[in-house]
Amino acid sequence: MVLPVKRWFALACLASLIPISDERASAADDWKIIKVSGSDYLSVENISHFYGLPAGISASGEKVELETVKNPLEFVGGSREVMINGARSWLCFPVIEHDGKYLVSRTDVAKTIEPLVRPHRVSNVGKVQTVVLDPGHGGYDRGQVSRYGYEKDFALDVARKLRPLLLAKGLRVIMTREGDYFVPLEVRAQIANAARDSIFVSIHFNATNDDPNATGFEIFSFTPRGAPSTSDSAVAPSALGTQPGSTVDAQSMALSACIYHSLLGHLPEYDRGIKRARFAVLRLTKVPAVLIEGGFLTEKGECKLIAQKDWRARLAHAIGVGIESYRALGIKKQPPLLVADYRKQIKSSPTDFVVQDAELKEADTSLMELVGKSKFLPPPQASSPRASLESAPIVP
Ligand SMILES: [Zn+2]
Repeated sequence: MVLPVKRWFALACLASLIPISDERASAADDWKIIKVSGSDYLSVENISHFYGLPAGISASGEKVELETVKNPLEFVGGSREVMINGARSWLCFPVIEHDGKYLVSRTDVAKTIEPLVRPHRVSNVGKVQTVVLDPGHGGYDRGQVSRYGYEKDFALDVARKLRPLLLAKGLRVIMTREGDYFVPLEVRAQIANAARDSIFVSIHFNATNDDPNATGFEIFSFTPRGAPSTSDSAVAPSALGTQPGSTVDAQSMALSACIYHSLLGHLPEYDRGIKRARFAVLRLTKVPAVLIEGGFLTEKGECKLIAQKDWRARLAHAIGVGIESYRALGIKKQPPLLVADYRKQIKSSPTDFVVQDAELKEADTSLMELVGKSKFLPPPQASSPRASLESAPIVP
């Protein structure tokens, strides 16, 4: 049902969520809010027209990949999954079909689609002097484990490899930890909050008990107020109401997009998508913040890649290029390079990575049991340190 009544009011509200400052301002008049069960939606056709981007709808359950999508915007009927400019992203709410039209929630148009389609238009985007690199876990918190080592060590190594690349670009770099010790999550966030014009980049590796074949990259920023996280299948509206939002949500999404497109463009990894979560470090940081999951330690091929220092160097390079791409948004005010642009750029160089088995050493079992020196003591009632701290959604 299209509501012409009070349309001006609805448009004003939507426009206030989407910064519109140039010739496209007139296009804002084209937004047609559609109310379904009390919630605001916009049609896919309307979104496509507004941005001037062709959009398609894949059937529910259909696989959408960079190689097969035909449109810059490719929604999936009944799903939160969407391909935006060649990278998978996850909407807060599923696309619904109503009166013969496919509809996207107003929250997603403002909070997901706008900053991913036009990150260069986000206010204060790219303002970065300091990059706070946060290697996940440390000390008694080993993170996830593969036969070749611990997540905490791999994450620290990527951060150490990334730091000189960023320094060379004239950025200031602060590491939340320099060695094998645990730093409380709130301290990590405080470090970022205390630095001037900072962004926060947390580096982790993934694991799952559910699917030994799960692979690929994903990147998270903080879940918007009133929305479920990507991993939530259903959340009571009452629970959502108590969650805070982030005042730099759009900047964090722009940062996610820049880093993620670079990651996928540089490394031939599966695209798990740009996601949302309420991880503590994302909730407590007041600056643009993302958490990268750089592959699965539980998958037999990927854990070998992660164990290779050359692979970790490539990962660090790709993150560095993504951060530079984010900074350029504020200077050039132009759209960033996308996954397809990066792949074209590096077409001449091989993207397949050969695992040098000779380099790989399985971690010594006695070492696996060692707990690193902690600068900060474990919390008094520390639950199993094997439980990943970033994978447990923390509700304030
Ligand atoms: Zn982790």
